[in-house]
Amino acid sequence: EMESLGVLKHQRTVSADGRHFEIGANLFMPDEIESAKNSGAEGIGLMRSESLFMGRDTLPSEEEQFLAYKKIVADMTPERVIIRTLDIGGDKPIAAIQTPTEDNPFLGMRSLRFSLAHPEIMRPQMRALLRASVYGRLAVMFPMVSTLDEFLAARKVLEEERQKLQAKGIGCARQIEVGMMVEVPAAVEMADQLAQYADFFSIGSNDLTQYMFAADRGNSQVAHLYQTLHPAVLRAIKHTVDAAHAEGKWVGICGEMANNSLATPLLLGMGIDEFSMNSTSILPIRSLIGELHVRQLQPLVHQAMNARNAKEVRQMIIGRVPVLK
Ligand code: PEP
Ligand code: MG
Repeated sequence: EMESLGVLKHQRTVSADGRHFEIGANLFMPDEIESAKNSGAEGIGLMRSESLFMGRDTLPSEEEQFLAYKKIVADMTPERVIIRTLDIGGDKPIAAIQTPTEDNPFLGMRSLRFSLAHPEIMRPQMRALLRASVYGRLAVMFPMVSTLDEFLAARKVLEEERQKLQAKGIGCARQIEVGMMVEVPAAVEMADQLAQYADFFSIGSNDLTQYMFAADRGNSQVAHLYQTLHPAVLRAIKHTVDAAHAEGKWVGICGEMANNSLATPLLLGMGIDEFSMNSTSILPIRSLIGELHVRQLQPLVHQAMNARNAKEVRQMIIGRVPVLK
């Protein structure tokens, strides 16, 4: 089957009724770039920069980060590379950074909160990203944004570093998209305001599901509550997409839901513009999108959002989308 999908490798992702969607790859280690390219990725939708900080006892220097980001950005030119700033804590511990013990690490000093509280770690990362931006099409994405103030504070740090670099005669790209992950319920609720200030959203369905149901994404005892196809999650996604589109902003999805073929018809119908996933899923999902008529999916979306649970949603999808039988 992979062989027949091979013809799709150099094609764009287009639905049966002619709409274009972008499918990017999720990268963890920078050396995965080759397999991403070989899998037909139309860009990098999520580079998890914490990988540069993990599995070692020291922090990566600004220079080391710059070289890593530069390589990815240059390798993918002219496609877009979205690099997510440091997203540590919870399920992503980092040996080089000693953090105080917390009762609730998933609700604690992690991710963007950590970066904002540690300018000595955040600022070098911003400089490394800005310096890399001239080598291609870089976008910067902030993770775990909970409030507008937090997003604005993060954007300000990036802008200050840009000005400092420019004062030193170090060039940065003129256009750098600055977006944010939507993975905290408060961000979903405030998406209309956030969309006025963010250039794009990317839905982190892994954390969004966890925080919506208050069910740890890694705890098998509560896995029955962790349902990405649940109408609660679907409504949150639809709300986010509508808010972004009202401001003329685009919305991606980069959690595991992006490569769940049962979710694909719903995500298309809800208006998601971009998908980012592990490389091996790109061609199967591109092929599936090629079979779907987006305009015909509206009734399914409506019905699914009004279902009572994820099981009902799954049955509705299978009933209405024959290729998924
Ligand atoms: C997510 O939360 O859905 C996501 C893409 O980020 P991560 O899995 O790295 O937390
Ligand atoms: Mg996340």
